[in-house]
Amino acid sequence: MPSALITGITGQDGLYLGELLLDKGYDVYGLIRGQNNPKEDLVRAELPGVKLINGDLTDTASLFRALDASAPDEVYNLGAISYVAYSWDQAQLTSQVTAMGVLNLLEAIRINTVGGSTKPKFYQASSSEMFGKVQDVPQRESTLLWPRSPYGVAKVFGHYMTINYRESYNFHASSGILFNHESPRRGPEFVTRKVTQSIARIATGKQNKLVMGNLDSERDWGFAGDYVKAMWLMLQQDVADDYVVSTGETHSVRELVELAFAIAGIPNWQDYVTQSEAFMRPAEVDLLIGDPTKAKEKLGWQTETSFEQLVTMMVENDMRIETQGA
Ligand code: GDP
Repeated sequence: MPSALITGITGQDGLYLGELLLDKGYDVYGLIRGQNNPKEDLVRAELPGVKLINGDLTDTASLFRALDASAPDEVYNLGAISYVAYSWDQAQLTSQVTAMGVLNLLEAIRINTVGGSTKPKFYQASSSEMFGKVQDVPQRESTLLWPRSPYGVAKVFGHYMTINYRESYNFHASSGILFNHESPRRGPEFVTRKVTQSIARIATGKQNKLVMGNLDSERDWGFAGDYVKAMWLMLQQDVADDYVVSTGETHSVRELVELAFAIAGIPNWQDYVTQSEAFMRPAEVDLLIGDPTKAKEKLGWQTETSFEQLVTMMVENDMRIETQGA
């Protein structure tokens, strides 16, 4: 039975990837951080087959312990402080976890396998936020990186460190440059879930207004359940590489809002939406659209869920929660 260690198991992608690997017959271990982590119960309820190990990406000794306990064939580094807007408020912490955490994990793997034991294959969760002030449209693997937030800068560090360990130490280390990917499991700080949760509350009379930031920015939004399949496929290749994972389609935040209100059966979305400086960012990424050609050609991967299907899934889930409490 192959074994996998996932950091960031409590997040949206950790849950989808854990599910995928359990279905494939893996022995799945998840690194879980902090005392009384409120998300521990969620992981235990949704993925009872996952074995949880206490540890933190900023504590390298705990990573050694996690590697010893799990003896992984594959390591998926999904752990990060991942909310872009927050990264300006806590830039150092974001860098320690999202950037240095990658190096800590790579070093723990390298030192653990110095005696010649087989190195686990390594997946790094890179991000389209690395493209920031985009230098090509659409963005592809060769596009110059120009991050626009402390989070983006930290992800660039992790991305290049992953490539460097591949080149310096012959790691089977791949980096997936994932564009925004959403689901009913998305945290409410991200725009898609904020919109679908608020609309469900408006539809059930619990909220009057939806206060938004920039409605003009455009994103390439896919379904997280599709994207974790690309992560797994990268580690099944003979040669490690970097891949853009995206839908190749872009939509504005305004289109997202309009569509979500329509799906909930509420006409005149403008009556409910206002804008506030509080949700604007010091530097914005205006347009993200990825070219997934390489992932399609080399991994045989492509997105299976349309934008409309994704938003429908999220609105229906939040309507269910608001009306039935589940
Ligand atoms: P990101 O692409 O990783 O930053 O994902 P988000 O879901 O947080 O933001 C996507 C886009 O939506 C960004 O361009 C935000 O500026 C924009 N946006 C507009 N209003 C809001 C809002 O109220 N909350 C969030 N999170 N983003 C918003």
